[in-house]
Amino acid sequence: MELGDFTLTCVSDGVFRLDGGAMFGVVPRVLWEKEKPPDDRNRIRMGTNCLLVARGDDLLLIDTGIGDKHDAKFQHNYGMDPGAVRLPEAIRRAGYELGDVTHVVLSHLHFDHCGWNTREQGGRLVPTFPQARYWLQRGEVEHGRRPNERDRASYFPENWEPLFEAGVAELFADEAEPIPGVKAVRAPGHNADMCIVLIDGGGGEKGAFWADLVPTTAHVPYPWIMGYDLYPLTTLENKKKWLPQAAAEGWLGIFEHDAETPFARLVEEKPGRFRAMPEVPVPENGLLAAPT
Ligand SMILES: [Zn+2]
Repeated sequence: MELGDFTLTCVSDGVFRLDGGAMFGVVPRVLWEKEKPPDDRNRIRMGTNCLLVARGDDLLLIDTGIGDKHDAKFQHNYGMDPGAVRLPEAIRRAGYELGDVTHVVLSHLHFDHCGWNTREQGGRLVPTFPQARYWLQRGEVEHGRRPNERDRASYFPENWEPLFEAGVAELFADEAEPIPGVKAVRAPGHNADMCIVLIDGGGGEKGAFWADLVPTTAHVPYPWIMGYDLYPLTTLENKKKWLPQAAAEGWLGIFEHDAETPFARLVEEKPGRFRAMPEVPVPENGLLAAPT
C-alpha cells in the first residue's frame, strides 16, 4: 500500500468500451487481439483507474473517471455497466469521504478523465469534492473550450466550468506540484497539453500515473500508440523520454485504462523493448490498494 511516504489506492469509476482498432492505431488486429480480446462489436474493455495519494492531511486524487451526468444512450454506446461501483463509492470503500479530498489533479479534460469533477446538486452543477482545489493545465482548458471537429465529442464543459464558477480551479502551464512529491508534468502527444503525474515518495520509491501516454499495459511497446492521438510522433517522443527512466528506476506505473492490470512496473528486456510486469489484478469491487 505504500510508496515511500505515500499510501496509494486505485479507485475505479467502472469499465467502459472503445473500438479496439482506434485504441491501437496502426497495430494490426491480429496482434492486439491477443493482448486485449474484443467483444462482438470490436470493442475492448477499458478501465477508469483513478488514483488516491495520501500522506498526513493531504489526500490527492488523480483524474475523476466518467461521472454520472450522461444519459442512458451514452452509457449504452460506451458499454458501461449500469450496476458498476462508481468512483464516489469506490472512494468511500477505501475509507475516505468525498470531503477528505484536498487536491484533484487532471491529466486532461477528455470525458473519461474528468467526469466526477462535478455533479448535480439541487438543479445545479457543483464540485464533487467540496474541499478540494482542482489543478488543470491551462492550454487544455483553452482547447476544451474550443475543440475541433475531430475531438469535439471528447469535451463536456460541465466537467470543468463549474469549478471556475466555484473558484476552486488552479491553472498551470508545464508542471505543477500540488503537494511535495506529486508533480503533474506536461507530456503531449495524445493531445497538445496532456499531463502525466510523477510520484516521488522518498527513499527511491517512485511512480508514474501514465494517463493516456501509456493507457494500458498493452501500450508499453513504443509503436503501440492510440489512433485517437492527435500527435502520435510526439507520443512516441514522450514514451522514449519517460519509459527508459521508469524501467531503470523501477517506478510503479499506474495504467489508467487497463481493466485488468492497473499497476505494473516496466522491465527493459532489450534496448528500447519494454514489458509490463503486473503487480496485482483489479478486484471486482473496483477498489484496489497498491502493493508494497
Ligand atoms: Zn482516456
